[in-house]
Amino acid sequence: MRIEQSPEFQIHLQNLRSKEQLFLETIYNVGNGHFGVRDSNPLQGNSPDYIGSPGLFINGFFDYKEVSYGEKYRGYPDNNQVINRLLDPRFIRIKVGNEDSLTDHFRVENIDKNLDMQTGLLHELFSVTTPENRNFNLVVESFASLSKLNVYGIKYAIIPTNFSEEVEVIKMHDYVNQSVHHQDDDIRVSQDLGQMQMDFIPDNGQPSYLVTTFRSQQGIIITYQANENFAPNPKIEYFMDENHHYGYRSKYFAKPGSSKDFEFLFAIGDIHPLLNANMYSDQYLASLDNFINDTTFKSELMASAQVWQTFWLHSDVEIDGDPALQQCVRFNLFELNQSAGRDEKTSIPAKGLTGNGYGGHFFWDTEIFMLPFFTYTQPEIAKELLMFRYHTLQIAKEQASDFGLGKGAMYPWRTINGFESSAYWLAGQAQFHINADIAFAVEQYYEITRDEDFLRHYGFEIILETARFWMEYGNYAELDGKRQFVINRVTGPDEYSALVDNNYYTNVLAQSNLQLAGKYAHKYKDDDGMLTRLNVTDEEVRDMEEAAAAMYLPYDKEKNVKLQFQNFEQLPKMDIASIDQSMFPLLLNYHPLMLYRHQVNKQADTVMVDFMFPEGNTLAQLKSDYEFYEPITTHDSSLSKAIYAIIAARIGKDQQSYDFFSQAVQTDLMDVHHNTKNGIHAGSLGAAWEGIIYGFAGVVNNAKSFSLQPHLPVTWNCLKFKMHLYGNEFQFIIYQDTVEVDLISGKGADITVANEKKQLSHQNPKQMWTYK
Ligand code: BGC
Repeated sequence: MRIEQSPEFQIHLQNLRSKEQLFLETIYNVGNGHFGVRDSNPLQGNSPDYIGSPGLFINGFFDYKEVSYGEKYRGYPDNNQVINRLLDPRFIRIKVGNEDSLTDHFRVENIDKNLDMQTGLLHELFSVTTPENRNFNLVVESFASLSKLNVYGIKYAIIPTNFSEEVEVIKMHDYVNQSVHHQDDDIRVSQDLGQMQMDFIPDNGQPSYLVTTFRSQQGIIITYQANENFAPNPKIEYFMDENHHYGYRSKYFAKPGSSKDFEFLFAIGDIHPLLNANMYSDQYLASLDNFINDTTFKSELMASAQVWQTFWLHSDVEIDGDPALQQCVRFNLFELNQSAGRDEKTSIPAKGLTGNGYGGHFFWDTEIFMLPFFTYTQPEIAKELLMFRYHTLQIAKEQASDFGLGKGAMYPWRTINGFESSAYWLAGQAQFHINADIAFAVEQYYEITRDEDFLRHYGFEIILETARFWMEYGNYAELDGKRQFVINRVTGPDEYSALVDNNYYTNVLAQSNLQLAGKYAHKYKDDDGMLTRLNVTDEEVRDMEEAAAAMYLPYDKEKNVKLQFQNFEQLPKMDIASIDQSMFPLLLNYHPLMLYRHQVNKQADTVMVDFMFPEGNTLAQLKSDYEFYEPITTHDSSLSKAIYAIIAARIGKDQQSYDFFSQAVQTDLMDVHHNTKNGIHAGSLGAAWEGIIYGFAGVVNNAKSFSLQPHLPVTWNCLKFKMHLYGNEFQFIIYQDTVEVDLISGKGADITVANEKKQLSHQNPKQMWTYK
């Protein structure tokens, strides 16, 4: 197979010298959901001389860090989970004449970097100069395999420019805790831990390690092979140094202009409990070896590239008329695909696998901002992500019980292993909406895929247990002369308010969660086995339906706005327009209480409801909510702007919609928040996809119908994307005043554009609409 490089799929930043090294490390990461490797200076290793934060991140591989509190109350988590930063697999040591990159400072200059998103191949050229002015070009190619999720490939070529001398190349990794010589006091960035231990697994013909964590008691095996067949001259030999560390080395006589290649395939194991990792290390190693034995860098790259091709075939979003944003969109989709766990044991960390910002935790970001992309384009991955929640349901139930609730599940606000990891509960654990967010995502997945098996065996239980949580946490109260169901003392999505009563978003989501539990309990009413196993009684279902019907939703009748929470109208507005730019994001510069006592939003909160539950809203309602909340929103969270873009599109504020969208979609590639260096903003990348689909294409999907009401930016000639729906795949092409839909596979379905429903089937696989 040969893949032509298409310029539209290249991330080929110009003028690398002017770019911040740490930003480049993030942008040029490679990953596959199991692991991610930041870009780096490949000669850096653990040397304190270089400024950078390289490393390997394995999804779900973390250690605990003790949380120290001034005053620790019952139920505060003892430990924080933090994703580990392991050795940089890009590291290589090069000796030229009497100079050694390990001990002498070789100057490494970025000359060219190109990430080919069609194949996942990162191609880089460095110019390396030794202290004695020997200079060579170093070409590095690397990829994280999508066809074998355990495999990482890296290939080096050394091309001297001004010397004829002996060169020695040593590929040895004898440390595991990757140092970072870059400090950041941003509270959202976790400090590195350095708690792992690395043991060489006795000689099996290639360097192999057992890496274990002290506190979380996890273990993984990492091994790598040099392709010796590929390089008979110079020969690559396996060796052991004086410290009994294993590696590869090769010595040869180099001449100017001559190029020698060295290629390595790593197998990065799965996570095991420490005990098993110790006991079965030989077995695990043998199965890892199979991934990298008798193969080459090239054939693994090709196999992986083929998976990337399939990805683009189904998931690409093509924009005709906006090349700059087109590239950002592709970058975002590429990164999402690189970040998503695919093993049912992991999800998507807020920073993908590109850094340890936010501790490598999974938040609601996955279910609300990223999952729709997967559900519509790669439903099998969406299911795996939801299965992570199913597998941690038992922990969530235990958490609810420890908390003092009689029933139900209480999912953690942020986590890696299913346990709560938020040390600041006010803006963390109290965001109970996570429970309803997960239920919402289960329903959305089911609506789109009609995956009955999933709903029956897993989804319903998640919906039921989270609904039980609301019954326990909420209560009835007399309000406005009525008996209403209230949910007090919660934190909504907006983290510039905390511990409020009746957060509109939370209550609407909880209401839907309760309704869904009722709906599916009825669906399975004849399945006695299931309802008995889950202890569902008619009375419980009735109670849930009653609570949903009586849910209190605070509303300001004078202003006609949905109130973010009860008594929100009593807070003074914060005049954000008068605050100096240097003070943003406000959370880094204000006492939290100063924010909590004002009307000021970090991110979309109430307008999230308008986005997620479009049905039943009048245009006037959307407008008044938008106009009320937009001026008090700082968008300090990168999850915010894309949502505002969606509502702006729906209410005809075309320019604002485009502006919000373009800022959202450029978040990482253009470093809008000046912190891409700490890792990508995975949720924001997913939100930008939502901006296109729900905003510009105007997709509305609920149990009853699937419809579009496009609002294409005036400069776009057309927008093209594919989606899976009810077991079909459709292609949508949206022009300025027409829409074309093709049935690509499946039996067909009804699709509505601008209120006109048409059927697509084998007989009518193509339909057209005029919508303006
Ligand atoms: C946002 C949360 C989000 C978290 C992780 C915070 O800044 O306020 O909504 O879940 O980042 O992305």
